[in-house]
Amino acid sequence: MLALEGLMMNRPLMISHIIQHAAMNHGKREIVTRLPENHQIHRYGYADAHARSQKLANMLTRDMKIKEGDRVSTIAWNSHRHFELYYAVSGVGAVINTVNPRLSPQHIIWILNHSQSKAVFFDSTFAPLIDGIAEHCKTVKNWVVMGGGELRGATKTQTDAYEDMIAGHKASYDWPDFDENAAAGLCYTSGTTGDPKGVLYSHRSTVLHALASTSSDVIGVGASGVLLPVVPMFHVNAWGIPYAAAMTGAKLVMPGARLDGEGLHELIESEQVSYVAGVPTVWLGLLQYLKQTGKRIDSVDRVLIGGSALPEALLRAYEDEYGVRMQQGWGMTEMSPLGTVNVPLPKHAGISREEEIKVKLKQGRLVFGVEMRIVDDEGNVLPRDGESSGHVQVRGPWIASAYYRGAGDESFTDDGWFKTGDVAHLDEDGFMTITDRSKDVIKTGGEWISSIDLENAAMGHKDVALAAVIGRAHPKWQERPLLIVQLREGAKPDAQSILDYLSGQVAKWWVPDAVEFIDAMPIGATGKVLKTKLREIYKDFKFPDA
Ligand code: AMP
Repeated sequence: MLALEGLMMNRPLMISHIIQHAAMNHGKREIVTRLPENHQIHRYGYADAHARSQKLANMLTRDMKIKEGDRVSTIAWNSHRHFELYYAVSGVGAVINTVNPRLSPQHIIWILNHSQSKAVFFDSTFAPLIDGIAEHCKTVKNWVVMGGGELRGATKTQTDAYEDMIAGHKASYDWPDFDENAAAGLCYTSGTTGDPKGVLYSHRSTVLHALASTSSDVIGVGASGVLLPVVPMFHVNAWGIPYAAAMTGAKLVMPGARLDGEGLHELIESEQVSYVAGVPTVWLGLLQYLKQTGKRIDSVDRVLIGGSALPEALLRAYEDEYGVRMQQGWGMTEMSPLGTVNVPLPKHAGISREEEIKVKLKQGRLVFGVEMRIVDDEGNVLPRDGESSGHVQVRGPWIASAYYRGAGDESFTDDGWFKTGDVAHLDEDGFMTITDRSKDVIKTGGEWISSIDLENAAMGHKDVALAAVIGRAHPKWQERPLLIVQLREGAKPDAQSILDYLSGQVAKWWVPDAVEFIDAMPIGATGKVLKTKLREIYKDFKFPDA
């Protein structure tokens, strides 16, 4: 019993409320898409998007018999149709599982089976991938190509076409209100232990996260803003931008399949984009294009950069030469993803440019809603002194409490915190600086590589006694895998033969950039290879092509 209960309405936080709000209050504000299937520009308003989401909702529930809690997957670029799926699938009470097409076909099959997806919506550019996986995905009843009927021939797999399927349905659907804690979205992230892990977002977590991200120190783009999420909609809901934009009525620009410098520049110019979000690799590509052509991006005011550390050269180039403010953010799939954002404080006014750069290279300060503590190996909380590095743990209403159908709970503490796998320190102002990563995965160009999968594959080579993979800095990809091998007795070092062997087993972009041979692998007390020691030994290692 409460001593005195507040007298406020207890309306549930529903994702469908966001699109209804956008349609009613920002109905004509545009969503512009470079269509993945033919690169042409498609534009319509939030009211049109809402109408088509309702047709889609009718189609999902009537034709496909999608019920509450069912999983519906997408393998798709950022587009208006993907946006419609975000709202329609969760709006009917089902769960949208956004699959990363850059994963290996084996991982995609694993995810579709693990999530027991009933339907998969895909862009026609992924037709060969679909043909390779369809027969292994037994729960999938419908494969839907995102476009018109002419795209049905793109696959050998029996497919339906999105436009044909929604055409006959009514553009009105009575979005139900239900428990705000119901699952709404699912996104798998690469785990330390090979198999991907599912993060299951709820309506409540998604709406709260979007609300927080619209505040002025975070995305802070209102109805007059023009937002370009380069970060894919298969990567933690494009950092929540499809929700935040609809909440505020910002114009939303979807780049489809063209994430190259020229493609992005063209869209930024033609749509007068003011705010862009993406990983550093994409920014490097755009920078190269701007430098080569002498073109500019004067409409852009701010760039949100995250997923990997913001490289200093990139920060200087965009801010000093192009007048774009670079804002670093940190988070992860398990955090929806928002954790910290780098915004200078009043006390930084008037500091020198060099001092300012030092501040901007930190990962940032906490967004309200996320709590953080830094602990040592024994779990003792470390002081916020800007020096004491330790394991980052977080908690909050948009942070995972468990993995979907997950086996282990080693990522969660007994007292309710999530172990991020990042190592960092906090200073007295709350600025976090990442110093290392304890989770055994490598992040390259915004995508994960499982070091364990690579090691297992390498151990299959006849000359390899022990294999370990660590990430090392790379100027273009932030990090690339370095394979370290202890040879079997009598074997001759032959790096190329090991790399050729790996090429047949893992995705091409997973193949390590170099192999180093070591006489004796450092082994810890529990019999495991000591990666910390390896990182120390190879701390000055440089990739040959870098
Ligand atoms: P993901 O789940 O794919 O979004 O990846 C999250 C991970 O990316 C984090 O745990 C960090 O290791 C890394 N990461 C994200 N943002 C940053 C950043 N600004 N600086 C350094 N690492 C980052």
